[in-house]
Amino acid sequence: MIEKTERTTPSRYASQRGSHDENVIFPILDEALFCTISYAEGNQPFSIPQSFVRMGNYIYLHGSVGSHFIRTLADGRPVCLSVMLADEIVVAKTAFNHSVNYRSVVIFSTGEVIEDQQLKYDAFKALTEKMVPGSWDYLKPMTEKEMAKTTAIGFPIIEASAKVRQGEPGQVETEMGLPIWTGLIPIKPIRQQPIPDDYGKKLPLPEHLKY
Ligand SMILES: Cc1cc2nc3c(=O)[nH]c(=O)nc-3n(C[C@H](O)[C@H](O)[C@H](O)COP(=O)(O)OP(=O)(O)OC[C@H]3O[C@@H](n4cnc5c(N)ncnc54)[C@H](O)[C@@H]3O)c2cc1C
Repeated sequence: MIEKTERTTPSRYASQRGSHDENVIFPILDEALFCTISYAEGNQPFSIPQSFVRMGNYIYLHGSVGSHFIRTLADGRPVCLSVMLADEIVVAKTAFNHSVNYRSVVIFSTGEVIEDQQLKYDAFKALTEKMVPGSWDYLKPMTEKEMAKTTAIGFPIIEASAKVRQGEPGQVETEMGLPIWTGLIPIKPIRQQPIPDDYGKKLPLPEHLKY
């Protein structure tokens, strides 16, 4: 259950664009491949882009056991995770009214290092399947050594918000008749035809990579 708190309530367009509903938040998290995780070390803020996967009401990140970032977050300090899907640039008659159609999520949380090996394995699998759908069973199976070289951290999704802007550019009455084009420029990322390396060229493209 996601809580609405003071710090997850936008000051602008809270009722029109804001949401604390997991039915809004989870699909955004599942569509986005990458997040940014922010935390502080003393007075120094850090903001690090990462791949991630959601399973249930947890976000999972993975990293090398030697990574400074992973070791820092393993102590359970407060973090802020953000995810955004930018769908369209909104082109208005004035620069002032230009905007972006987007779906985004902000989560406040603290990390829990995953010691349970089955859960860690499941999180690896979910992340791999998110990045390259249909690939887990095709790949050489993950080894215990590879598992041991990686730390997985789970972040409960308890305090989170979504914000969604969709629609046309804002129009001001007095500008209605001006001969200036208005509309939307789609900027959605799409998976394109995979590019084999020299080894890949010797093999047929597996079914799960045919987009
Ligand atoms: C791709 C993209 C481009 C954007 N471009 C601009 C821009 O150029 N100028 C601009 O003013 N705004 C832009 N925004 C919107 C921006 O993210 C903020 O929502 C906005 O600045 C207003 O914040 P606020 O003062 O209401 O939030 P605050 O009151 O500062 O935030 C309070 C809480 O509201 C929630 N919240 C605020 N914004 C978001 C969000 N986007 N997603 C999820 N939760 C949120 C968080 O929980 C946050 O802790 C953009 C958003 C995206 C995703």
